[in-house]
Amino acid sequence: MKTPLIRRLCIVGVGLIGGSLAQALKRAGAVGEVIGTGRREETLGKALALGVIDHLEMDPAAAVAGADVVVIAVPLGAMSGVFDTLADHLPKDCVFTDVGSAKGCVVADAKRAFGRIPPTFVPGHPIAGTEKSGVEASFPELFQQRRVILTPLAETEADAHRLIRRMWNATGAEVVDMGVGHHDEVLAATSHLPHVLAYSLVDTLARMDDRAEIFRYAAGGFRDFTRIASSDPRMWRDICVANRAPLAESIEEYSRDLGSLAQAIKDGDGETIMEVFRRAKHARDNLYLD
Ligand code: NAP
Repeated sequence: MKTPLIRRLCIVGVGLIGGSLAQALKRAGAVGEVIGTGRREETLGKALALGVIDHLEMDPAAAVAGADVVVIAVPLGAMSGVFDTLADHLPKDCVFTDVGSAKGCVVADAKRAFGRIPPTFVPGHPIAGTEKSGVEASFPELFQQRRVILTPLAETEADAHRLIRRMWNATGAEVVDMGVGHHDEVLAATSHLPHVLAYSLVDTLARMDDRAEIFRYAAGGFRDFTRIASSDPRMWRDICVANRAPLAESIEEYSRDLGSLAQAIKDGDGETIMEVFRRAKHARDNLYLD
């Protein structure tokens, strides 16, 4: 039998992303056994019953013992505590990665916990997800034809980087490398800002006096635009706090443009409104690829 890419994989936090990764790697024959560890035994019991993991281990030292790869798939606010635990137990040559939606904060957390940037650490972020959470929502096709961004550092060992790249390729994803700061700026604009807008729009409408009427007549466009506002609020709170500087800049830029558009609408300035809408349609039709 062919030796799998990863003999023993440990996933810390078996939710939507961790569970989908485990399933995708199993389906691809890229992993020998999957150990799940995390916060609540009940969650891991579900993952075991669903066949997402092969073993459940609540003791972190036992969970990572003998692992070739450890994937940390917990919310951003929990990363620091997980690094503290791993720093005491991680096997010497074990390669580890994370899936956090912001990278600067994760790299800073790792550096603090390990006292330096560990050379076997490869920060990562799969650009794939749904508005659902938890292992019950996980599925093996989640990463197919999606992008995964890795943000290796000067200290990162080439072999560790190569292994994590191959791991994600095995799920059907395309892997790209990016600098940590650039990742956080790009994702603030393309993912974090749209989530803030969706949450804020739904919240504003939900507090209006005639909210029942508003939601009763909400059509397809409103549903499409606001779907992401049903994502896990705690996860998105963590992302906003973790990536606050680039996100605040994106919000300011957007607010300036929205202010100009609002003024054009107030003035009945059809020409300016048309110019903005035409430019946006052109960008949406030509630049947005999937
Ligand atoms: P999720 O479905 O809620 O899963 C998170 C998992 O982490 C759960 O199994 C949870 O276990 C566990 N966990 C929570 N706090 C923990 C702690 N203190 N220690 C150990 N385990 C803990 O969330 P997710 O969507 O998979 O997101 C996980 C990570 O992926 C986040 O960092 C997020 O930024 C990133 N990400 C998410 C998406 C997305 O669209 N969802 C996309 C890309 C990246 P319990 O249930 O027992 O609490």
